[in-house]
Amino acid sequence: MNKLVFATANKNKVSEIQKIMGTQYDFLSLEDIGCTEDIPETQATIVGNALQKARYVYENYGMNCFAEDTGLQIHALGGAPGVYSARYAGPARDASDNMNKALSELKDKADRSAQFKTVIALILDGKEYTFEGIVEGEILTERQGTGGFGYDPIFKPTESEQTFAQMSSEEKGKISHRGRATAKLKAFLLEV
Ligand code: IMP
Repeated sequence: MNKLVFATANKNKVSEIQKIMGTQYDFLSLEDIGCTEDIPETQATIVGNALQKARYVYENYGMNCFAEDTGLQIHALGGAPGVYSARYAGPARDASDNMNKALSELKDKADRSAQFKTVIALILDGKEYTFEGIVEGEILTERQGTGGFGYDPIFKPTESEQTFAQMSSEEKGKISHRGRATAKLKAFLLEV
């Protein structure tokens, strides 16, 4: 079976994609290949970070791989927090603090529109491919729902009356940035 490394430390993400993709590929986590170091993520863009992580694995471990990077882009804040979404309120990467900061920055703004963007960067035998998934929506004035993670309680996609935190993970996956990027990756991998 073709082996493909998913450059993530999150084993749940690996088993999630294995379920979506079936048996054509054997997905490995960073731990599975003995990569325990922190992979640098120092680029100024989401696509840059996704490529940087995938290239790191390809160059240091010589294995086909893909990596993903995600950011929340709030239009009235010039696209912030964007590539800095995880540590918007500081290095502790605290989701609650991050949401509070976004809510406070938007306090006096009329335009609350925002989008999540995921980029998956894939390297197969030295060739690079990228797949983008975007979901548009708005930042509510207060949290709603307790599911999901990160900014989910304050993000309501345009095509739903519920925030991501009020949806099941299946419902979220059908319309989410990550779900859309993963669907493109899946279609590509089933073709090659
Ligand atoms: P990462 O690229 O998956 O590490 O995501 C960067 C940051 O964006 C995370 O720390 C979360 O705060 C946020 N984030 C990523 N994906 C989601 C999502 O699906 N819902 C809410 N927040 C997310």
